[in-house]
Amino acid sequence: MKAVICNSPGSLIIAERPVPERGREDVLLRVRRVGVCGTDMHIVRGTQPYLSYPRVMGHELGCEVAEAPAGSEFKTGDAVFVMPYLSCGRCQACAKGRTNCCSRLEVLGVHRDGGMAEYISVPQPFVRRADGLSLDQISMVEFLSIGAHAAERATINPGDRVLVVGAGPIGVAVLLFAALKHAHVTVLDARPDRLGLVKRLGRAESLVTLDDETRARLLEITRHEMFDVVFDCTGNVRAMEAGFDFVAHAGSYVLVSIVPDRVSFSDPEFHRRETTLLGSRNATLADVTRVMDAIRSGRIDTTALNTHRAPLASVPEVMFQWMKPETGVMKAIVEC
Ligand SMILES: [Zn+2]
Ligand SMILES: [Zn+2]
Repeated sequence: MKAVICNSPGSLIIAERPVPERGREDVLLRVRRVGVCGTDMHIVRGTQPYLSYPRVMGHELGCEVAEAPAGSEFKTGDAVFVMPYLSCGRCQACAKGRTNCCSRLEVLGVHRDGGMAEYISVPQPFVRRADGLSLDQISMVEFLSIGAHAAERATINPGDRVLVVGAGPIGVAVLLFAALKHAHVTVLDARPDRLGLVKRLGRAESLVTLDDETRARLLEITRHEMFDVVFDCTGNVRAMEAGFDFVAHAGSYVLVSIVPDRVSFSDPEFHRRETTLLGSRNATLADVTRVMDAIRSGRIDTTALNTHRAPLASVPEVMFQWMKPETGVMKAIVEC
């Protein structure tokens, strides 16, 4: 089979690899769609810290069942979603149902070879039927689930003022799920093209560009109260630190993006507000189910999110295009 291999930072090739042996309790899947995300770009750049090369990337998968164990719920041709976070099921976090932050978590396409290939073998508990969703939609469930999970971490009440900082795919996912909770959502980003796409989605009440006027605009939007819940989806440590200042008294701050750095804040300001500070990592199967239901019922429309696509064989060239901000990629999908 063909697979896209990242040999070392900066080097992507198409290679022939044997079709994986199906493990006894695994489902062998024919990969049909692969969403590309920031993680993949970090792998290509060499800025993903816990990774050994060569690696087959790809964790946002829309697949069809090729071969399932006898007596399983799957039959050949079924469209399925793959949960890329392989949790251990035995640690303290897993025992609490917090499989998204399992202490022994392995992520497909990061710690283990992923699905930017024609086939992948995945343990049954991490394969989910996705009846009623198109393959494109299935490949967008994972990144939407990260937003859905973040929106669940904080308590969002109808009418709350919510600020999403960073209008990349994860920020957009947070926006969509915060809006489903009937919050008044403001989106802040430095890039006008990204805010343009957010505007077309029609779910944000206000859009704010990062400049000298930002703080004044945010105060005006909230009648000088600032926001009940602020989500950081920037991947930028200075933005993460600045976000503390946008949280209202008694508000919450949810750090969704991860930076390889220390984050500091003013303790007197933090205490004055009695800020609730939360990390949000990955997603659980409950989040995935919620996302699939929202897509199926039409409450989330995925069409506008997919801005670019290409066949598997062209990934080594298009990936470097997609990594340039001026290409304006929100979600790129590889067809296989
Ligand atoms: Zn992703
Ligand atoms: Zn675990």
